[in-house]
Amino acid sequence: MVERGRGAVKPATWQARPGRRRIYLPVIAITGLAAWLSWRGWDALGRWGITRSVDAGRFELAGPAVLGFVLAVFVIEQIRPAQRRPVLARGHLLDFCYLVFYALLVVPLIVLLGAGFAGLLARLEPWLVLPRVPWIPGWCFVALAVLGIDAVDWLVHLANHRITAFWRLHAVHHSQEELSILTTYRAHPLVHVSFLISAVPILAVESNAATPAVVLTAYACLGALPHANVRWTYGRVGRILVSPAYHRIHHSATGRLDINLGTVFAVWDALSRRAVFPARAAANRIVIETGLGGRPVPVEQSGPRPHLGRTMLSQMAEPFTST
Ligand SMILES: [Zn+2]
Ligand SMILES: [Zn+2]
Repeated sequence: MVERGRGAVKPATWQARPGRRRIYLPVIAITGLAAWLSWRGWDALGRWGITRSVDAGRFELAGPAVLGFVLAVFVIEQIRPAQRRPVLARGHLLDFCYLVFYALLVVPLIVLLGAGFAGLLARLEPWLVLPRVPWIPGWCFVALAVLGIDAVDWLVHLANHRITAFWRLHAVHHSQEELSILTTYRAHPLVHVSFLISAVPILAVESNAATPAVVLTAYACLGALPHANVRWTYGRVGRILVSPAYHRIHHSATGRLDINLGTVFAVWDALSRRAVFPARAAANRIVIETGLGGRPVPVEQSGPRPHLGRTMLSQMAEPFTST
C-alpha cells in the first residue's frame, strides 16, 4: 500500500499572483492551433459529406447514453454521498452549466478538431495502421484499441500536469471543491486539443477491427464514474479499474496531484509507481477535500453569491493571461 502525502510537489510551476496581468502566449499558441485544426476540420467535413461527418462525431454522438448514465449516477450520489451537500450546491450548479456548454458547443468543437486532426493523421497512416492479421479475432484488436486509448489518455494527462500551459487549462477541472459526476464536464475547451492523439489507437487497429460505438460509450461511462461523490473503492477490482475513491485522491486539495492519473485503468499508474490506492477503512471514514489550494482559478464557492456565469467566464479567460 502506497501512502499519500510523501514527497508532496505541485504540478508544473504556475501560481496566480496579484499584479498587472499580461497575455500568456503559450495558451494563445494553443488557441491558434485549435483554430487551424477546426478550419481544416470544417473544410474536410464539407468534402466528406454527411455520412462520414456523422461517423467522425460518433464518439461524441454516444453522448445521450453517457448523459443518461451521468444523471442516474447523480441521483445515486444524493442517496449515499461521500460528502453530503445540497442538490443545488454551487459546485453542482456550475458543473451542470459546464455539461450544457459541453453538449452545445464543446462537442461540435471536438468533432471539428478531430476531423482536422484526422486529415493530418491520414498522411501518417501507412506507419500508424497495423497490418491485417486475419487469424487474430477482431475483439482482440478492439481490446488493444481500448488499452491504447487509455494509455495515451494517461500520457496526455501526465503532460497536462507537467507542461505549464496545459496545466493552466487542466486546472479548471481541478478547481472543483464539490466534486460530483458532473465535474467530468468541467474542463476548459482548449484542453481537448491535447487529447486528440487518443484517436491514434482506433486508427491503428482499423484494418483489423472497427471499434464499436457501444465500446466507446462504455469507456466514456467508466471514465466519468470516478468523479462521482461516492465512497466506492471497487474492492479488489479497484486495483485495475479507476474507482471514485481512487480518482478523488488525484483531486485532493493538498499533496501531490501527479498521481492516480488513470482514466479507466489504474495499471499505468501502478507501472509508473504513481498509484496511491485508497485504504478501504479510510475511504469509509475520511473524505478528502478537493480543489486547488490558494484558489489560483476563480471558483464559485468564494464570495457571498456564486455568480455562475461570471465565474465560468473568468475560469475560461484565466489561462490567457499571467502576471
Ligand atoms: Zn489531473
Ligand atoms: Zn478528474
